[in-house]
Amino acid sequence: MSLHLNLRHLESADQPIALHDVLQIGQWLLSRKDIKSAAPFEVNLTARLAADVVEVAGESKGEVLFVCSRCLTEYKEELTVPSEHAFTKLKEIADADSEDRIQWINGDLIDLSTYVQEDILLDLPYVPQCNPGCKGLCPQCGTNLNESSCDCKIETIDPRLEKLKQFFKE
Ligand SMILES: [Zn+2]
Ligand SMILES: [Zn+2]
Repeated sequence: MSLHLNLRHLESADQPIALHDVLQIGQWLLSRKDIKSAAPFEVNLTARLAADVVEVAGESKGEVLFVCSRCLTEYKEELTVPSEHAFTKLKEIADADSEDRIQWINGDLIDLSTYVQEDILLDLPYVPQCNPGCKGLCPQCGTNLNESSCDCKIETIDPRLEKLKQFFKE
């Protein structure tokens, strides 16, 4: 079980190769204070060879425990992250690929875990939110406004208007 693809195997197998691994993604997320923990991610990829291009496609699945950026509640989310990559050993194919989709590789071994890692990290929400309509916390008393309401009067008064208000009172 690994995500190391040997192109020689693919060439001689004459059929797609399935790759499977379980990645401990928690270790990549230590700097993210808004991620409490992450379950190991199940990765399933298929590699196939067509006209000197290796097409790799599949997905990674796992559960992540986030801290909502608005209400600070922890919530779990099951993520499914697609991966799609293409490689070739022939430089002329990579050079001719105007979309820059096909990567040139030197040699027969590709460690797909680096690519999958990048896919997963890019897929994680940059600002986690428990749900799109999360009301957050009251900035004055800290009440979770999704669960209850409070009596704080939150008026955002422009300081210039405040002065004007005083002026008319006097
Ligand atoms: Zn929230
Ligand atoms: Zn309040």
